[in-house]
Amino acid sequence: MPAGDDWLQRIASVRRWSRRGERAPHKPLLLLYALGRLQRCGTSEVSYVEAEPELARLLRDYGPPRTTSPAYPFHHLQSDGLWVVHAGADRPGSSPTRLRSTAATGRLVPEFEAALRADSRLVAVAVRSVLEANFPDSLHRDLCEAVGIDVEALEVAAAKARAHRLRRRDAKFREQVLVAYEYRCAMCGYDGRLGSEAVGLDAAHVRWWAFDGPDAVDNGLCLCSFHHKLLDRGVLGVTEEHAIAVSSHFIGRGRAAEELVLRLVGQPLVEPQRGQPVPAVHHINWHSDQVFRQPGRVPA
Ligand SMILES: [Zn+2]
Repeated sequence: MPAGDDWLQRIASVRRWSRRGERAPHKPLLLLYALGRLQRCGTSEVSYVEAEPELARLLRDYGPPRTTSPAYPFHHLQSDGLWVVHAGADRPGSSPTRLRSTAATGRLVPEFEAALRADSRLVAVAVRSVLEANFPDSLHRDLCEAVGIDVEALEVAAAKARAHRLRRRDAKFREQVLVAYEYRCAMCGYDGRLGSEAVGLDAAHVRWWAFDGPDAVDNGLCLCSFHHKLLDRGVLGVTEEHAIAVSSHFIGRGRAAEELVLRLVGQPLVEPQRGQPVPAVHHINWHSDQVFRQPGRVPA
């Protein structure tokens, strides 16, 4: 049986780009779904019929704006040596109709599942490496909740050295971006402090760090935690002219939704202080293509 590190190697090499450099989180989302199922049910085994609507929801909520069939990762994750599909004597491939009609079931490969059962730390490290390789920090907790992974257990067991290194990397980027924007949210102008510390303000990456987005001010925006989350979920975006875009898929009828989100359509971003770069167009374009839920609402 391969050791824990070998399984982590396989996870790290799961392909998450398409040929055109597009974000392809389909296999990572199936992996998270399977790990959550293992943690909740004691086995990752699931029929395609049961997994299909749940995977479709994950792909819709956390995948790129284009639509992909859940059958695609259900079949193709097998080639990474982490997942196996059984359909009796049939080979349904990635056809949803055939996966359904053959009552296909999928599961993590039994040796991998046994290694995960034997070592809860391995589960935590596996989840964390899938999250870090594919999604920004602001979405990790939501994703764990969406697939039923126990976040508290995960954090206790998180690999300390890695977390430490990441925090150090984050600290410098955060400082540079917050200073550039003078500790104000670039969308709403929020500038709260608690004592001498900014509170509720983040340095957001426009192009996600997991997808080669650099820790540089021209790839950063100082945002309040709320607008950061909505940027990473594709509700909010930025146009090439540095105006705020709001997805037409976002719906909110109350006054708070109007004030915090809808009124931002077409508003200019708060500019960084003189001498600091605005977000670069190529990073903005990546976010528009890979994250933002097109189309944007039309300004009033
Ligand atoms: Zn804000």
